[in-house]
Amino acid sequence: MPSAPCEALRKQGYQFFSKASSAALKPCMWCKRALAGGEMCYKHQFYGIDSHRCVQMTPTLRCNQRCLFCWRSFEHEPQEEVECPPETILAGIRKYQKKALAGYNAILDNTVTEERWQEALDPKHVAISLSGEPTLYSRLPELIDLFSSKGYTTFLVSNGTNPEMLRRCRPFQTYVSLDAPDAEIYKAVCRPLGDSWDRIRESLSLLGSRRSAIRVTLVRGLNDFAPEKYAAMLQDSGAMFAEIKGYMYLGYSRNRLAKENMPDHQHVRAFAERIAAVCDYRFRDENKLSRVVCLERGR
Ligand code: SF4
Repeated sequence: MPSAPCEALRKQGYQFFSKASSAALKPCMWCKRALAGGEMCYKHQFYGIDSHRCVQMTPTLRCNQRCLFCWRSFEHEPQEEVECPPETILAGIRKYQKKALAGYNAILDNTVTEERWQEALDPKHVAISLSGEPTLYSRLPELIDLFSSKGYTTFLVSNGTNPEMLRRCRPFQTYVSLDAPDAEIYKAVCRPLGDSWDRIRESLSLLGSRRSAIRVTLVRGLNDFAPEKYAAMLQDSGAMFAEIKGYMYLGYSRNRLAKENMPDHQHVRAFAERIAAVCDYRFRDENKLSRVVCLERGR
């Protein structure tokens, strides 16, 4: 693992589980807001997840796509690394989450109650979604099983390019991204390092038999058309939920996209409705602040 990118990310608040790997955690904005008694992330509203008890992490920062809308930097991706063992990651979860949240505790910040601070030090959920593609970590099934055995609820977010690995993983909820209505748009928007469209379709086909969600990141002018094609893929997948989420003009994506590519909530809602109109998915909930609509498969 080259140290320079790590140093840059450390300054951004990443906590690394080992020196030679890129496995890391970083609390998201919602975790800190919830800790201070503020709003929780839309996953609280949709699925009951307490943001201040959720650890956002990844077992690797490597990725095999270069999505235009990704708000992470590709420059900080490690070229090589020695994978961090699952036991080391598990052992570091509480320790590094506490370190990352230092400064938000009840003594330093009077908006944080002692009760919420203690709850935050005893996380219940792990969102394997920080950055990078987690299925590139060879011991992912083992890691997820280890988290589950300790009572953590796990959310695995994958770009879907590695169906063989996804098949072996048993998280509480599996997310697969679907960011294009067809192969051509996929190549233009997600810029995969290989030809992965058929592999993503294969990953989608695994979702009907587990608790799952398809995540569509809607970028105005790039992938916000052909709702019937998204609908057909949703329908074939059998996923439990579909989240249609507006692209946010944030982080490093600002170097690749313009502010105009960010759809407002009304646009996201209208697109979600066009999808729902031609398949068995129905409106379930929405969060205007996060510009996301949750659809649920009808029975
Ligand atoms: S798959 Fe995820 S981590 Fe990889 S480039 Fe796309 S958005 Fe970023």
